[in-house]
Amino acid sequence: MDSYEKHIQSFDTKAVHAGVEPDPTTGAIMTPIFATSTYIQESLGKHKGYDYSRTANPTRKALETSLAALENGQFGFATAAGCNAADIIMHLLETGDHVVSVDDVYGGTSRLFRTVWNRHGVSVTFADLTKGSVADYVTPKTKLIWVETPTNPLLKVIDIAAIATWAKAQKNPPLVLVDNTFASPYFQTPLELGADIVLHSTTKYLNGHSDVVGGALVVNDADLAKRIHHIQNSTGGISGPFDAFLVLRGLKTLAIRMRQHEKSASFIAQQLEKHKNIDRVYYPGLSSHPQYKVAKEQMRGGGGIVTFEMKGDIENARRMLESLKVFSLAESLGGVESLVDHPAIMTHASIPAETRKTLGITDTLVRLSVGIESVDDLWGDLAQALNKAF
Ligand SMILES: *Cc1c(COP(=O)(O)O)cnc(C)c1O
Repeated sequence: MDSYEKHIQSFDTKAVHAGVEPDPTTGAIMTPIFATSTYIQESLGKHKGYDYSRTANPTRKALETSLAALENGQFGFATAAGCNAADIIMHLLETGDHVVSVDDVYGGTSRLFRTVWNRHGVSVTFADLTKGSVADYVTPKTKLIWVETPTNPLLKVIDIAAIATWAKAQKNPPLVLVDNTFASPYFQTPLELGADIVLHSTTKYLNGHSDVVGGALVVNDADLAKRIHHIQNSTGGISGPFDAFLVLRGLKTLAIRMRQHEKSASFIAQQLEKHKNIDRVYYPGLSSHPQYKVAKEQMRGGGGIVTFEMKGDIENARRMLESLKVFSLAESLGGVESLVDHPAIMTHASIPAETRKTLGITDTLVRLSVGIESVDDLWGDLAQALNKAF
């Protein structure tokens, strides 16, 4: 960070300005898309900090600086996808190492653990980290604790500071990673709570316009940053300049988008809680949420995702989903448009039915990604669909 960026304090200002310098040759206010693979060297071995775009690219660099600033971290990395960011972190481990992960971790992360890294001799224990202590699951081989909070789709909230404090007190502290995709840095900054690594799928809120697949990592420790850069540069998991430009553009409106997502999600969660056709609402901003106290301490708002369980059976859920007109039936989340997901049939179908049942992913569970359309239209749409369903 240079001195100008250091005195940009507020999140809203950082979202617009961090990492973005006017182009020195033209004065262009927006960071250009540096579509170049290589850079001319003035003389043998003398260049302007860029020699090859896998190693570094100015558009990606601007995005990485911005991401680090928003997470109040020192070093940012923009990767090809959220799953690619996860894979880069797993490359820090060695055969025989062990990971403790939240049990309802993002499905793609679970697949990476179970079907890719298990084959390389890295084992993972899936644990309900809302209960008991992380110490119950850790072994002498545990090198990484993988936290995702709020979780998907049940929006369980894990106490980041408690886990980070425990980890730091160990003789060989395991790294603590937080997948911060659902909350976004607007509502939650895990590095400030003691986490070592923040991971994002920038595909979701950070880009916010459902037109990019990308990922990010942010850390504070210089040595860890060096190791991550080494793996990223060695394996090629980078965000290309066009994608980096789009995410950088999306970030400029992150603060106002998140405020609107949260305002509407919170209203909808309250309405759903009172609705006669609803059994249960999961939303970290509701006082009925089982980890409401932890959520209040570590989050600055409940976020934009609301999950609920309908009364009735799968046919009622099907009628409800097929009656929606403003909400679109689609996977993914975090864009300006409202989406609705049926986890058991869509996003979480690859999880064995038995595991889904123990997790609480039932046939009438519905996940909303509340967009920034008029909240009257959104609630009106849900209310009419819920009435048609019964
Ligand atoms: C989408 C998602 C990912 C994976 O990101 P991709 O960009 O799809 O690879 C990881 N974690 C969470 C919480 C996600 O929602």
